[in-house]
Amino acid sequence: MLETTIAGSLPKPSWLAEPEKLWAPWRLEGEDLQRGKEDAALVWLKEQEDCGIDVVGNGEQFREHFVHGFLGQIDGIDWNRKTKMGIRDNRYVVDVPTVTGPVARKGSVHGDEVRFTRQHTRHPLKFTLPGPMTICDTIADDHYGRRADMAMAFARILNEEARELEALGVDLIQFDEPAFNVFMDDVNEWGVAALHEAMAGLGCKTAVHICYGYGIIENIEWKKTLGSEWRQYEQIFPALNSSRIDQVSLECAHSKVPLSLLGLLKDKQVMVGAIDVASLEIESPEEVAATLRDAARYVDAERILPCTNCGMAPLPRQVASGKLQALAAGAALLRREL
Ligand code: ZN
Repeated sequence: MLETTIAGSLPKPSWLAEPEKLWAPWRLEGEDLQRGKEDAALVWLKEQEDCGIDVVGNGEQFREHFVHGFLGQIDGIDWNRKTKMGIRDNRYVVDVPTVTGPVARKGSVHGDEVRFTRQHTRHPLKFTLPGPMTICDTIADDHYGRRADMAMAFARILNEEARELEALGVDLIQFDEPAFNVFMDDVNEWGVAALHEAMAGLGCKTAVHICYGYGIIENIEWKKTLGSEWRQYEQIFPALNSSRIDQVSLECAHSKVPLSLLGLLKDKQVMVGAIDVASLEIESPEEVAATLRDAARYVDAERILPCTNCGMAPLPRQVASGKLQALAAGAALLRREL
């Protein structure tokens, strides 16, 4: 009961990329870079295991960006044709690459890193992929015309990748869909259908992670506009609860999400975010247990998976380590209590 896990990313060691910076460029190249990523993954596997995290991942040490790490290996994208786009409904404007033809995998994207990670842990292994809607909100379209059509095309290649990773021993594939909190109508119209396409035929567990983003300034400012109660989840949970996805990963620590909304997910396992990734303060085990206890008023404890609110990539490494320990210790406290 109360198996612990992490949302996904963990800080890169300073010898691999500039610390405390999201999407920092690599500090190594060639063969050294490959070894560096593997060494960083080993460090984090060991730390997760030592802390008592049950379902582990490689901390996304092999990718610079959670969406572009996947898109980099896809045909049909022109990386030299940058389009200015206001992503997440104009929360930030960035230059994004442009889809100019049918998208297709050039080959395996994450196979090698999964093979490596699987060899080095006996714990259940989780792997994160960007969700189809979030991909479409991070890239410009000059081919498909409708966002829903482009999402389906990406969902099909995500599915090819997911099936390959499952065959390599991944126990849980999580699709990251922060865009689900922004385009709630689209989630109901085609977002869940695209997720179903991405997970079609998988025998391993599947999850969707829907958060309010990394603790970066644009997200902190956006959250200030959301009012005293964040009710975005309310509009999408009914569709998710009747979907085929096994687990839903949410932001609960220090968030203004009314936890009663978790009651809408009565048929799902819920990854309860009990670690605030926007704060450098390390939670005490008691604080973590308190967040989990609050969630347990609406979700049976058997269905709760204590987790982080989001990825911890931008945090100082020691802070992320401390938060991993707090998460495991807090879950252990509640487990004993129950
Ligand atoms: Zn997140």
